[in-house]
Amino acid sequence: MKNEDDKVIPVRVALRCRPLVPKETDEGCQCCLTFVPGVPQVIVGTEKAFTYDYVFDPTAEQEEVFNTTVSPLLSGLFKGYHATVLAYGQTGSGKTFSMGGTYTSTQENDPSVGVIPRVIRRIFEEREKMTACEFCLAVSYLEIYNEDILDLLCTSKDRSSLSIREDPKEGIKIVGLTERQVFSAQEMVGCLEVGNSARTVGSTAMNSASSRSHAIFTVTLEQRTGKDKSVRFVSKLHLVDLAGSERQKKTKAEGDRLKEGISINRGLLSLGNVISALGDENKKSSFVPYRDSKLTRLLQNALGGNSHTLMIACISPADSNMEETINTLRYADRAR
Ligand code: ADP
Ligand code: MG
Repeated sequence: MKNEDDKVIPVRVALRCRPLVPKETDEGCQCCLTFVPGVPQVIVGTEKAFTYDYVFDPTAEQEEVFNTTVSPLLSGLFKGYHATVLAYGQTGSGKTFSMGGTYTSTQENDPSVGVIPRVIRRIFEEREKMTACEFCLAVSYLEIYNEDILDLLCTSKDRSSLSIREDPKEGIKIVGLTERQVFSAQEMVGCLEVGNSARTVGSTAMNSASSRSHAIFTVTLEQRTGKDKSVRFVSKLHLVDLAGSERQKKTKAEGDRLKEGISINRGLLSLGNVISALGDENKKSSFVPYRDSKLTRLLQNALGGNSHTLMIACISPADSNMEETINTLRYADRAR
């Protein structure tokens, strides 16, 4: 049973450029990117061209992005493959918009919703179809902030940092993390809403909302099939809204904030190293540096091996952001 969907390609990269936002238009910003029709390529200024697995220009709709890039991962999930979707990019580039992390149940028929609500809908649709299987679905939602792992579904006031343990059978485990079993799409959305209201809010010169932490929404799918439902397999889907990739000087960080900035960069830095080690055909058997950050350690089982990873690299088209855009294009280029 090997078809196109089943072929394990460790990391695919989708580049997504949002439209100019009103603030950029008001400030007279110009678009500094050219998209080549029919080719997954973007050209910065007049010379530098970058090619990815997919390129979405500012006119691309949420549905198209989802159907092209995330939908195949979900087919894999139901066949037992782990999957990870990572949204990367500077603050304001469209990570949260693309992931749909701030979705609430009031947006049910809104076509502009992002990946997470579409994933939730699809999972329950698939489940309806697969009658020969018994399913168990669970959700966890956490945040990595300043190299601390915080449980966003923990209802008690004391949200102290959790630790990671490696279980020989189950793989990476986070000790004490809430895993909420869910039976409907509404319940899953409920978990998303609960977690969002618990997210750390810090402010910087670039963004008043929190953009300094990685948020990881994880769906665990357990399937039992066969005689007596004795064949059991578990697959995990991680949906990750990464911290802003901008360098420190732009956020005018001081004191504690600067420390935050540095440890966030550690996650993104080691993620880049892990992903490029995975993608390098010649280095296949060599060392993959998962242990360098909480982010990569936590995603260890879901990056590489029997897993599908998609990075959605988000960029602004504005010339005022060109420097950060080039950084993102380079980072995403290493991942291929
Ligand atoms: P980030 O999470 O990377 O900081 P956001 O997702 O909050 O960025 O996006 C910044 C702003 O740009 C928001 O107002 C968002 O609605 C808008 N935006 C981002 N991507 C798109 C898009 N593809 N189409 C339209 N608006 C977008
Ligand atoms: Mg965001």
